[in-house]
This record gives sequence, C-alpha cells and structure tokens, in this order.
Amino acid sequence: MHDPAPIDRGWPALYLDHNATTQPAPAVIEAMAACLGEGWANPSSTHAPGRAARERLEVARARVAHLVDAADLREVVFTSGGTEAIHAAILGAWRARRELARDTILASSVEHAATRSALEAARREGARIVLAPVDAQARVQREAVLERIDERTVLVSLIHANNEVGTLLDLGDLGQRCRAAGVLLHLDAVQAVGRLPFSVRALQADLVSLSAHKLHGPKGVGALWVRRGAQWEPATAGSQESGRRGGTENLPGIVGFGVAAQLARAWLQAEGWKDLAAVRDAFEARLLELVPDVVIHARSVPRLPNTSSVRLPGLDAELLLAYLDSQGVHLSAGSACHATARAPSPVLAAMQLGGAAGMETVRVSFGRGQDRADACRAAEALAQASLDLGRPVPSSVIPGR
Ligand code: PLP
Repeated sequence: MHDPAPIDRGWPALYLDHNATTQPAPAVIEAMAACLGEGWANPSSTHAPGRAARERLEVARARVAHLVDAADLREVVFTSGGTEAIHAAILGAWRARRELARDTILASSVEHAATRSALEAARREGARIVLAPVDAQARVQREAVLERIDERTVLVSLIHANNEVGTLLDLGDLGQRCRAAGVLLHLDAVQAVGRLPFSVRALQADLVSLSAHKLHGPKGVGALWVRRGAQWEPATAGSQESGRRGGTENLPGIVGFGVAAQLARAWLQAEGWKDLAAVRDAFEARLLELVPDVVIHARSVPRLPNTSSVRLPGLDAELLLAYLDSQGVHLSAGSACHATARAPSPVLAAMQLGGAAGMETVRVSFGRGQDRADACRAAEALAQASLDLGRPVPSSVIPGR
C-alpha cells in the first residue's frame, strides 16, 4: 500500500489518504487487464463474445450485491462512480415521486459535495431542500431528522460514513420510520462499504450509493443499489442495466469493481476492519504522546476504522500538508474536493469548526495492508513537522528531550 516514490528524509513514503482514493489491488488490475485484452465485447451483443462479456458483467454484479447483502442481484445498477450514483438516487427519487404537495428532500449539513450538487440540481427542478443539523462530532441527529419528516417529504438522503471525519450515521429505526411515512431513504455509503460490515437489508434503505475506488477497485465506476419495488426512475434513458442506466457498460471497470468487492468481503469476514481500527488507534495514541495538545475530532463516537481527523493548534493545515508531502507523507485537509480551497470545508463548518480550528484540521486515513509501524511513522512525521514548522509546543513533548 506504500507510495513507491522515493523520499529524501528518514522515513519511507507513506500514503495516508485512503478516503480520497485507494490503490487498486493487484488482482483487480489483473482482472481488468484480462477483460480489456480478451473480454472486450459489448455485453449487450447477442453473439458468443457478447454473451461472454455479459457473463463477466453479471459475475461482477453478484459480487457487488453480496458485499452489500442485497436480496436480488438485479437491484445493483452500475454507474460511473459514487457521484453519478448519488445524482441518480436523488434526482431519480425526486422525479418519480414529486407532487405538488410532496416537494421536500431532507439531508444533513455534512453531506459530500456530490450530494450537495445533486440537491442543488433538484432545487432547480422545484424541490425544497431541508438540512438537519449535526453535533460537534458530525453526528447527524436522528431526532432532528425525524422531526423534520412530514407529509411534504419525498426523500431522506444521508451520508452513512463521513468522508472527512469518519463519523458513522446512527440510523436506528430511521429506515422503518421513513417507510412508515412513505418517504424514500437514500444512503451515501461510498466511504462505509468495504470498510465495515454493511447490509442494505438490515438498514431498510431504498437506495444506496457505492464507489469502487474507495475499496481498492478502479476509479470511474460505482453502483446504485435500488430496492426492488422502490418508486424511482432512471436519470439516463437506455436499455442497458435493465433500462435503469443507459450507455454501454464500462466492463473492465465493473469487472475490477467485482473483484474488489470480493476481496473486501473476504477481508470483512476476517474482521480486517478491527485490525485497521487498531492501526488508527495506535496512530492517535502515539500522536497524543508526542503532541499532547493535539485535538482529535469525533474520537468518542462510532467512526470509520481507518479515519482520524486531527488538529495541531496554531499550525495551518495547508502548510502542514505541503511540508509533509515534501517529506513523502501524503494526506489531505478535510475532503479532497476542498484540498485547494482556502476556507474550512462545509463539514468542519457544520461541526462549529469554521474558524482557525477548521483551517488547522487534517485528515489521516489509513488503508488495508498498513500496520502499527506505519501508524507510528505517521504520528512521528506529524510531530516532527510540528517542530520543524515552528509550532509552539510545550518543551516537555519535544521528542528527544
Ligand atoms: N460520497 C462520499 C462520501 C465520498 O467520499 C465520495 C468521494 O470522495 C463520493 C461520494 C464520490 O464518489 P466518486 O469519487 O466515486 O464519484
């Protein structure tokens, strides 16, 4: 999992940005290459090569369906990634269900940019968008969502695992409550699936968005899980994907996604996520030892096992990231989508970290294959950077004193 680029300063290069993307697994690359080389026919063709391509497509569909515990393989619709899946979910639910009296989509104030732009598109089509607040740990308040559901609500769309701080959605009985109220429930599970056990059936959702590149699959491919019977309409017309997403399928990408899903399922069955959480916890423990005034956001609430959102008070995140990057330690501030913006991300702002705190927060996200040695190196790299960049720290914590 290490970045192969050489570095010039003491510790081996360290990739700590798995929430932005993950390295495709070797088996994924192999399967994609084989598909490009031999299995390149159009899965919609009825001749033998086309039928073989269709078979590859359906094997991948089954693998993705198993990963999310879908009741029926046909519920999985392949897309060009998480962003398209989210747009298809939100706009598809809105267009299928909008009525004069039902005009509201409910989401939270910590949604990913993909959801925010889909909500904006729905707003331009007449939807009323209502956002439920979160607490200082980025926890969407279930009661706040429930009390906003009324007879005007078409859809509830929530992020299942926050990409910036890792906070997990505590769904409770929200799925049943939405169903009872005649409201569709969409979950953006892009960061959660492949990192934690995940069952669309247990969650009682109607629509779930997935992305391959967060689970060691390729970029540019994802899926929307649509519960059989859900009142939803496709955003792209065409006969492919059983009429639910037009356009010739990205077969090599989908095949890679299928292999990645299979690997993720085996990893989850072996409870790999517990090991990953131990790596992340070792990082945080070591960092606290070296830099006692470090602030770790959302540490006390259920989080993704790989994610740590940390603030070194007094040290600008952009400066820290650039410095670490030059040392071969690669991470990001908040969402990758905000990596070039000079304002705290909307997620940090919603957590009341809109001022200096937001500008001093970085995201460390570990990945499968990393170990406690990587965790210690990561903590030591941050502590050393804090010293090198002149952050005022208590002298007792300066390593070596
Ligand atoms: N949703 C979340 C929570 C994400 O973290 C991301 C990617 O960063 C997306 C959606 C978008 O997925 P994709 O990059 O596949 O379009």
